[in-house]
Amino acid sequence: MTLELKGLYTGLKFSSAHVVFGHDSCGVIHGHTYYVDVKLYGEPSGDFGFILDFKILKKIVKKICKTLDHKLLIPENHSNLKYSITNNHIIYTFCNKDSKKEYKIPLEDILLLPLKGTTAEELSIYIAELVKKELSNLNIDYNINCIEITLYEGLGQGATYRISLDNENK
Ligand SMILES: [Zn+2]
Repeated sequence: MTLELKGLYTGLKFSSAHVVFGHDSCGVIHGHTYYVDVKLYGEPSGDFGFILDFKILKKIVKKICKTLDHKLLIPENHSNLKYSITNNHIIYTFCNKDSKKEYKIPLEDILLLPLKGTTAEELSIYIAELVKKELSNLNIDYNINCIEITLYEGLGQGATYRISLDNENK
């Protein structure tokens, strides 16, 4: 059975800026409003027969959205990106065979992410892993087999990532 939250209708969204480094049209700083759909695959259990209480799942995903909201998202593991952090700024350089760009941005404006890029694909993986971790920390994942995150970059276009939970031993 699946339990689902649609970001558009449940306020699971954030607005952020990013760069798809080296891309023709998306290689400049620009922004999106992102919506997060969450699906949990599992079995109903407990007193109420829930896979998980909607309220709890909403709270977890909203908290993740809040950390990403109103930030310039920077992928710290991008292969063509070098960065250094000084007092209150990050200075980073993107360099490939066609171009070199240097940025200096106040730290409070950015979020450095442990990713190779900030595409919808990468961000959907990042969010799925955070949801998995939080469900495990709260010890409320025992009847959940799988988490699926669809991250919409604007309305109508998104990337979906599905992550399994290792619940065999519980
Ligand atoms: Zn974009």
